[in-house]
Amino acid sequence: MDNHIDFSRLSRRGFLSFLSAIAASLTVSGLFSRFSSGRAEAKDANLKGNIGAPKIAYKDNGQRILLKNGFIADGTGKTGFKGNLLINGGTIEEVSRGEIAFPGRTIDCEGLVVSPGFIDMHSHMDWVLPGVGHDNLKTPFTAQGVTSFVAGNCGFGVAAFAKNSPHMELIQRRIMDRMFSVNWTSFAEFFRWSRSRMHTHNMAVLAGSGTTRMSMRGMKSDPLSADERKVYKKLLEQALEEGARGVSFGLQYEPDIFATMDELTEIARMVKSRDGIITVHMKAYSALSPSYPIRPFGRAHNLQAIDDMIELTRRTGVKMQLSHLIFVGERSWKTCPDALETIDRARKEGLDVQFDTYAYHCGTSNINVFISKWFLSKLPENYESESARRKLRMELFVIRKLLGFDFGDIQVTNTMDPELAQYNGMFLDEIAKTRKMDEFDCMLDISKRTKGRARVLNHRYSKLDNVLDMIKHPASLFMTDATPTPVGVQNPGAYGNFPLLLQYARDRRLVSMEEAVRKMTGASADRFKIERRGYLKKGYAADITVFNWKTIRDNTTSKNSSAPPTGIEAVFVNGRQVLARGKVDPAVKAGLMI
Ligand SMILES: [Zn+2]
Repeated sequence: MDNHIDFSRLSRRGFLSFLSAIAASLTVSGLFSRFSSGRAEAKDANLKGNIGAPKIAYKDNGQRILLKNGFIADGTGKTGFKGNLLINGGTIEEVSRGEIAFPGRTIDCEGLVVSPGFIDMHSHMDWVLPGVGHDNLKTPFTAQGVTSFVAGNCGFGVAAFAKNSPHMELIQRRIMDRMFSVNWTSFAEFFRWSRSRMHTHNMAVLAGSGTTRMSMRGMKSDPLSADERKVYKKLLEQALEEGARGVSFGLQYEPDIFATMDELTEIARMVKSRDGIITVHMKAYSALSPSYPIRPFGRAHNLQAIDDMIELTRRTGVKMQLSHLIFVGERSWKTCPDALETIDRARKEGLDVQFDTYAYHCGTSNINVFISKWFLSKLPENYESESARRKLRMELFVIRKLLGFDFGDIQVTNTMDPELAQYNGMFLDEIAKTRKMDEFDCMLDISKRTKGRARVLNHRYSKLDNVLDMIKHPASLFMTDATPTPVGVQNPGAYGNFPLLLQYARDRRLVSMEEAVRKMTGASADRFKIERRGYLKKGYAADITVFNWKTIRDNTTSKNSSAPPTGIEAVFVNGRQVLARGKVDPAVKAGLMI
């Protein structure tokens, strides 16, 4: 990020946006928060209290572990208390304000917070977790306190495919580097296969509308026929019946980008009838986008996208989770208060609408996310069509200029193509310069050569105030939306997201420690109906994260986006310790498909 600006080219406006890019990259790097935490007094959560008289005594059965004298934040958001917690096998046997007399293995948690294991409620790890090996892609989450994922977001599901689909190769290549081959169509089969394997984390899944459509008809852009609609609905309904928590839409990606409102309504009704949830990667995350017509003084496109999903909720009564609320490009930043008010109004109306956020100003996507629906609907022909290219070039030129977002904000993290691997980690403007190409042509060339698979990390997403407002908002949940890749540059969210959220909550006094914990544990478990997890309660699964509220911090920087955090002291998955004093033991595989 630091070397890619040519100062001689910068106009005054360019220089200003350069400054804000620097501010954003500093924030990404965690440097900014380091400076500010020096100024702001660290909020000293009242981790004090007294342990009462001995209450209960337990024998050592070889499976019990006592977490002693910790400060219990139980996931409800209520003020925590000094207490003791006893694990027995995979279960929490006792949580007590009083003393627990126990002669066996005891971990002293004096001065530390004992909280439920963090739930990464917007994840794509369904395409990684069941793969044997690849521990380096999973352990960064353990290192930041994550014990469970809710995967299958943004329309990309790991099952619910049409039988004998000719498009399975497309699906598997589209999503991730291949970690395993898909030999199933239904979630029942996926669960059977994955339950026979050992996992580092727990995982709940959503069915992905996009991958189900893809399995039926590839990237076809016309509306579904009556027969296809029946199959589409049936496959997704079966997914819910077999254990998926709901359905995700990916309305900015092919082929969900082609879905009609009627098709989405039908699926939302079905999900409502089964008391599931819809998560949605919306049609637009910027004030101007190719998803809606450009009208002078019209409503910002990202707000229209929120309106559309609220309308879908109003029509169907479905539980709606607006995925990774972000504000792409400078001109979108000021729409954040309006977006939050729109969500508040819907909630006051009684609609069950929430959203999620991460702590960073960058996020992952694929290279086609910038390309208009009309262009994508005729591929590969449009790559070669002079007139289509000219039209798209003009469209993106106008949007970029009006939006305050440019090719220099797009970092190609993994081209997923060995021939282009040398460009991994570089920004699009740098790549274009190196290849002596025009930036637009360079983007289209990468899109064409990788069939839209190249993964990107977009910078200048939301300004810091937007992120802080979202962290504070009562309807927000916390997540990473990050998937580490075997090659290329990593998304810092996979390494430091939850520590950074806690760091912001502490240094900027946004929400109490207990409330921050609730948004990454109990509230997410409730949202996805994950039973017996997300809270520290007797009889609940022993997914536990012990952290130091005073020292917890993200250590990632723009130069090193894969630095482990400080302050995560112990992590237990189903009662088995997977991290001790900041060190992950990748050999312990205690996760379950939940
Ligand atoms: Zn998404």
